[in-house]
Amino acid sequence: MNAPDHNPSNNETTPTSGGGRLANFIDEVVEQDLSSHKHGGKIVTRFPPEPNGYLHIGHAKSICLNFGTALKHHGVCHLRMDDTNPTKEEQHYIDMIQRDVRWLGFDWSEHEYHASDYFDALYDWATKLIEAGRAYVCDLPPEEVSKSRGTLTTPGRESPFRGRTAQENLDLFTRMRNGEFPDGSRTLRAKIDMAAPNLNLRDPVMYRILHAKHPRTGDKWAIYPMYDWAHGQSDWIEGVTHSICTLEFEDHKPLYEWYIDQLQAIGVQPQRAISKAGPYRPRQYEFARLNLTYTVMSKRKLLELVRDKHVHGWDDPRMPTISGMRRRGYPPSAIRGFCDGIGVARRENTLDISRLQFHVREELNKTAPRRMAVLDPLRVVITNYPEGQTDELDAVNNPENPAAGSRKVPFARELFIEREDFMEDPPRKFFRLAPGREVRLRYAYFITCQEVVKDASGGIQQLNCTYDPATRGGDAPDGRKVKATLHWVSAEHALDAEVRLYDHLFTKEDPEDQPEGKTYLDVLNPDSLKVVTHAKTEPSAANTSVGEVLQFERLGYFALDPDSDTAAKKPVFNRTVTLKDTWAKVQAKAGD
Ligand code: ATP
Ligand code: MG
Repeated sequence: MNAPDHNPSNNETTPTSGGGRLANFIDEVVEQDLSSHKHGGKIVTRFPPEPNGYLHIGHAKSICLNFGTALKHHGVCHLRMDDTNPTKEEQHYIDMIQRDVRWLGFDWSEHEYHASDYFDALYDWATKLIEAGRAYVCDLPPEEVSKSRGTLTTPGRESPFRGRTAQENLDLFTRMRNGEFPDGSRTLRAKIDMAAPNLNLRDPVMYRILHAKHPRTGDKWAIYPMYDWAHGQSDWIEGVTHSICTLEFEDHKPLYEWYIDQLQAIGVQPQRAISKAGPYRPRQYEFARLNLTYTVMSKRKLLELVRDKHVHGWDDPRMPTISGMRRRGYPPSAIRGFCDGIGVARRENTLDISRLQFHVREELNKTAPRRMAVLDPLRVVITNYPEGQTDELDAVNNPENPAAGSRKVPFARELFIEREDFMEDPPRKFFRLAPGREVRLRYAYFITCQEVVKDASGGIQQLNCTYDPATRGGDAPDGRKVKATLHWVSAEHALDAEVRLYDHLFTKEDPEDQPEGKTYLDVLNPDSLKVVTHAKTEPSAANTSVGEVLQFERLGYFALDPDSDTAAKKPVFNRTVTLKDTWAKVQAKAGD
């Protein structure tokens, strides 16, 4: 089986370079810059989340790209919180973001920064732009500001406050800062060009009044910088050389460059400038967002799913969040493998979620210990097996990894098998257990079904079977064959477990593509979670630690959930993925 390292629908990805990682267009730029000794041979990238929610798989792509680029080229990658909007941001989100980046396997060492670290510098620079006649205080309410912006085909209208003197602007701006005016009553705007073809250059707002407590600066500020004013300058201050972001920021680049050009023109230099050789400015490169089928990725929508209890929190295993994937049992290496494998595109596309699951399965196949569990137990009594006797059978822990060794599995007179592995009146292609038929119990014996015991309403209650002691270990000395091997557990020794089976959270590939009047909430999958409360697992499943993933033979991969009561031996397992490999099928169909 080939790993889907190349996306057939995306001809802008480039093939594998040395080191097993993929080269992409960012690498090419970085390599050129290194060979021309631009930025004195330094490479600095950053991952700049806004701490207003948990990170998702799209962020993982950005993390792998930014940290990965730095790692590949001996640079550094900063973790910067773009914390300019205190009404939506929380310390808890900052903590969770850091935990997730670390869990993914990346390290920013001492390079942890916050846009709020630069609030003083930004304020100081804003006053300098006011003095230079490049910014003014505008008294239009926010709705008026956006209305006067104009459209792509019509120019904007100049604010009646555009002509204020620097003196007047400085006075008003200081008073804005001091908290003299109510929220939304005034803004500081850059004085650029209300007829600029790029709307971002039509006198954008730099500061708004917001009497809000900030998770880091507390009550110090009554005004907060807009993202666009803070973001580019933060990169500049930190000496970021390659500012990698998603395509929607392409039109903001001229504004970021305008700010830096103006500041340089009036002699402002950031303290931590990268190159002493001359004026430096970060260079922005855009790539296409990652989108996945059956998934929404906007933080606003994810927040809504959590807040309105459509899921059980940010780390619900159905969520596309990194913490949800961790809880579900996705290994970080599989997420990294997926992110590296899809390359870096310049055009929007949506990837099949089964492609991510392919990486999860590939990884877990190598690492997950095999165990036996029965989700829908049917009692089997081995009538010729002595009562009270137990047999300890050897079971291989992982056929892919001989070093994983083997374990003992108890066998006794009463067992459970999967209800769907028996049919009283089997159709032609059903090879599993049926009356009079012999099958193998994995690692154990051949058994033959002798009798079906029913309850009063005719439901199958129990199977009475016989076993052949000569087939211990699962092979018949006389060479006779059986057509099926079933998993099973000993009734007396089994643990009761809860198993949570997950499916896509949405029923539609593109949940956002909805007719008028409908939203993604209308296509939530009512069957995205099925809870099996009476599953049975072999006793060694008790030795699993939270987060560890097992393969339950023939069923799939399952991660031990933090809801487990390990002291009481009451495990809860999340199904990570099934064993079926739909991506491989997609590939096979595409003729790969
Ligand atoms: P919002 O701005 O709606 O809150 P966001 O998804 O842009 O959400 P940020 O915290 O600003 O969230 O994102 C941090 C970084 O992750 C940004 O550089 C952004 O470009 C990148 N990023 C966000 N979503 C994706 C995605 N789906 N694919 C790739 N990169 C992404
Ligand atoms: Mg954003």
